[in-house]
Amino acid sequence: MHKKSAFLLQSISFLLERPTLFALLKPYLWWLQWKNPFPTLAQFSYRITLENVLTLYGRKKPVVWASLFFPAEFIYALDGAPFYPEITAGLFSALGVGAIPLFHAESHFFSADLCSYHRLSVGASMLRFFPRPDFLCATSGICRETVPFFQTLAELFGVPLYLVDIPHEFSPKTVRYVASQLRSIAQNLKRDRRVTWDFERPFELAQKTQTVLQEIEALRRKKEVMILPPTKNLDYLPYYYQFMGSETSLSFFQKLRDELRQNPKNPLPHRLLWLHLKPFYSNFLSALLTELGLGIAFEEFAATYSGELKPKEPFQGLAEKITVMSHALMDEKARIARILQWVSEYQTEGVIQFNQWGCRQSQGMNALLRKTLRGEGVPVLFLDGDHIDRRHHTEEQWRTRLQAFAEMLGG
Ligand code: SF4
Repeated sequence: MHKKSAFLLQSISFLLERPTLFALLKPYLWWLQWKNPFPTLAQFSYRITLENVLTLYGRKKPVVWASLFFPAEFIYALDGAPFYPEITAGLFSALGVGAIPLFHAESHFFSADLCSYHRLSVGASMLRFFPRPDFLCATSGICRETVPFFQTLAELFGVPLYLVDIPHEFSPKTVRYVASQLRSIAQNLKRDRRVTWDFERPFELAQKTQTVLQEIEALRRKKEVMILPPTKNLDYLPYYYQFMGSETSLSFFQKLRDELRQNPKNPLPHRLLWLHLKPFYSNFLSALLTELGLGIAFEEFAATYSGELKPKEPFQGLAEKITVMSHALMDEKARIARILQWVSEYQTEGVIQFNQWGCRQSQGMNALLRKTLRGEGVPVLFLDGDHIDRRHHTEEQWRTRLQAFAEMLGG
């Protein structure tokens, strides 16, 4: 690497590891609050992002990294600050700073074939761009890459990793098995880090948020309601996962619900179901969908867990949540059944999946998904590319395929 670039990267990581520096954000946050006491959704998101930067990099609380399907409620219950590297990889990509960590990982023998959510996160961790974790929590679902990815992170930072094994099968027995692992992690954390647990508040907030999410889902089932521009809801992923069980998620979804109720936008002519995530580094796809009249009625990753979380049996409820959500994506029959149910509930005319480069988890079942949906008369389109790494960006191919899909839908 060029000496100047290496010096610049080292300087950035040096500054990012100075918690006191982030205290400078406080007056600005206070000013934002004063200027916009009733923020719009975008203003709210901006403020929350900065507050989160202050909490994580300012080391206000123990920083706990987690894989996407490890429930944030568990981390809030120990008064930790959850950090989801896979979600932050999307944010880095959206901010246009994904290339540096991606190249850094590749130049340190992480294959370019490795999923870019993990490749970017490893690179950003090696460069110390991500906030240093106190410890890590991960589940073995939903893909096989997650465990080695978190083991690499534990090695890099020299911190403990608490792993939860998720069986492929879903049954009361497997839920008990997952609950016993969570219980044992909680006991270890209590012993090793003197953690005290309070599940009451995060569970109460998560339940309230679920109620609001169900109201949003009911609104989105109506033909006249649509979140625009298409795929915008996937930018809200942190509120579905990282902030679940906190005031942040509840306030955000209350705002989103009120906005959908009070300011309905003109929906696009076609209603579609979106599977997997999307390229975060460019708005091209969203603009193209708008141009072709292809609206998104619902997204697979916006599906949340609606079961009850009881503070008296915290590990049982959380285990059920993890197992239900993982099974619905890992098991092809369960995944396809859920997709067909959404097609009917959200009155969608077709389904689009944006394949992620190197993601065996989702693409492994593409043939079966295509066959089953077509058998039910549901048109399906698979777009290829990468959610994070813009080197696999193929605008012309997306345009050709989406145009043909829109023509097939007619109207
Ligand atoms: S995109 Fe696929 S391979 Fe990458 S982390 Fe998600 S499930 Fe795993």
